[in-house]
Amino acid sequence: GNIVIGGGTGFVGKHLINALKNKNYAITVISRMPGPQHISWNDLNKSGLPQGTFAVVNLAGQNVMDFKQRWSAGFKQNVFNSRINTTSALAKAINEASVKPQAFISMSGVGAYKPDKSTQYTESSHVSNFDFFSKLVLEWEKATSLNNEAQKQCRVVSIRSGVVLGRDGGMIKQLYLPFFLGLGGPIGDGSQFLPWIHIADLVNLIIFAIENNKVKGIINGVAPSPCTNKEFSNAFAKALRRPACIPVPKLVFNIMLGNDRAKMVTEGQKVLPQRAQELGFKFQYPTVSEACLNIVK
Ligand code: NDP
Repeated sequence: GNIVIGGGTGFVGKHLINALKNKNYAITVISRMPGPQHISWNDLNKSGLPQGTFAVVNLAGQNVMDFKQRWSAGFKQNVFNSRINTTSALAKAINEASVKPQAFISMSGVGAYKPDKSTQYTESSHVSNFDFFSKLVLEWEKATSLNNEAQKQCRVVSIRSGVVLGRDGGMIKQLYLPFFLGLGGPIGDGSQFLPWIHIADLVNLIIFAIENNKVKGIINGVAPSPCTNKEFSNAFAKALRRPACIPVPKLVFNIMLGNDRAKMVTEGQKVLPQRAQELGFKFQYPTVSEACLNIVK
C-alpha cells in the first residue's frame, strides 16, 4: 500500500521512510518543497489523497528548538499553524476520500501533561490547557478529528512523543558538540524529568500504529524507563567518554529560548508508555544509557 507522510522530509520522516521502504511500502511525501514522490499541501487540498492510500502520517511542524528563531508572536503562530493546519488538511482529505485509508497517525507531544517532579502520567491522566504548549498539543490532537463516516473506517492515533533521541536531528544534534567538547551538563539542578524516546523506537511505534488495528486514540511515545535531565546528561556524556559536570543555569535558557520554550528543557514530566506496553509493543532501547550508547556509535 501507499503511505502518505506530511512533513516526511524531516528528522523523523527520513528514518520512518527508510523503515517503510524496507517493508515494501510505497511513499508519498507532502512537502512545501518539490521532490521525487512529493506532492504539495496545495495538491492535497485540490486533488485529495493519492489513490490507494493505505495510511496517512503527519510529521509536519515548524521546528520549535530552532535557536536562530526568536520566540516572537509571529514565530509562535508558525509553530501553531504548521501543525494544526496540516493536520486538519489531512483530516479533511480523509473525510473526502471515497476509499478511506485504514489509519491516520499524527504526532503530538507530552506538553499536555503538567511538568511535575512526582506525578506519573499515563494516557488516562488528566490533561489541561495551562500554557502555550499544552494548548498547542490539545488543538493538534483535536485537528485529527474525522467525520462520523470516516471514523468508522479509519483509526485515528495521536502519538504524544517525548524528545526524540537520534544522532542526526532533534535535541542530540544541538547537544552533540558541547558534550563532545566536555562542556555538557545538566540543566539547572537536573532533577526535572526528560521524557524521551529513541528514534528507532518511535519509528517502530508509528509502524506498529499503522499496522495493528488495536491501536487507537492517544498513545504516549516515550521509553519505559523515564529519566531525569541529570541522568540523561550523565548517560550521554558517558557514552561519549566525556565528563558532564558543567551545569547550565536555567536563566541561560530563559534568555536564549524565551520562557515558554525554555520550559521544555528546564521543566519536565514523568510519562509512561502504558498503552504501547499493554498492546505488546517492544522497545529496542528501553533505557537512556542503551539509547545514548547506540547514538554515539
Ligand atoms: P522536523 O523539524 O524535522 O520537521 C518536519 C517537517 O515539517 C519538515 O521537514 C518540514 O517539511 C515540515 N515543516 C517545517 N516547518 C513547516 C511549516 N512552517 N509549515 C509546514 N510544514 C513545515 O521535525 P521532526 O521530524 O523532528 O518531528 C516530526 C514531528 O514530531 C513534528 O511535528 C514535531 O513537532 C513532533 N515532535 C518531535 C520531537 C523531536 O524531538 N524531534 C518531539 C515531540 C514531537 P518541508 O520542508 O518538506 O515542508
